[in-house]
Amino acid sequence: MGRYEVPPLPYKYDALEPFIDEETMRIHHMAHHKAYADGLNDALAKINALSHKNYIIGILSDLGGVPADGRDAINFHGGGYENHRMFWESMMPAGGGSPGGRLADEIDVYFGNFDQFKRMFSEGAAAIQGSGWGWLVYNPTYSRLEFLPTQNQTSPWTMKKVPLLGLDVWEHAYYLKYQNRRSDYIDAWWNVVNWAEVEERFLRVAS
Ligand code: MN
Repeated sequence: MGRYEVPPLPYKYDALEPFIDEETMRIHHMAHHKAYADGLNDALAKINALSHKNYIIGILSDLGGVPADGRDAINFHGGGYENHRMFWESMMPAGGGSPGGRLADEIDVYFGNFDQFKRMFSEGAAAIQGSGWGWLVYNPTYSRLEFLPTQNQTSPWTMKKVPLLGLDVWEHAYYLKYQNRRSDYIDAWWNVVNWAEVEERFLRVAS
């Protein structure tokens, strides 16, 4: 792998209005995500690993294999890089609704029904203290779906879980429009979820 760069947003900065505002999207993508990419490249350079051969998912999945003096920085910036890459693709204009197919069936199995899943995810994400992410993950050890909150930029890959859908609850993700009303941001965010993308991620890992 070479240096990491922020991929272009798959839609315009104002495309998720009114749920997520243009200015937040612009700063989040151009400044925050870029800072994680730069931080990851710097962290890899510091441990002389800029020519590493694995994509960041492989590195996060085996953080213990990272030299100890670079581990925290790669956990933070590598998680931040990959979490945001997934986040942009997890949203779309005119998204929302609910998933179909096998993912819908599995959500019913593990959460009761879609509304209960949404409520549990929303409450779990709202309850994260400080900065972090709320995730729907696939646990490959037990072949099941789970809700997982993580602190700061810690990625589910570091816990051997496969991220299917992640919600950024750092204040930088919502403060300009929602200020301290994190729950309002979460409620609005469900309207832009790209369930087709989440279903594809699930089908790639579920056997
Ligand atoms: Mn963010």
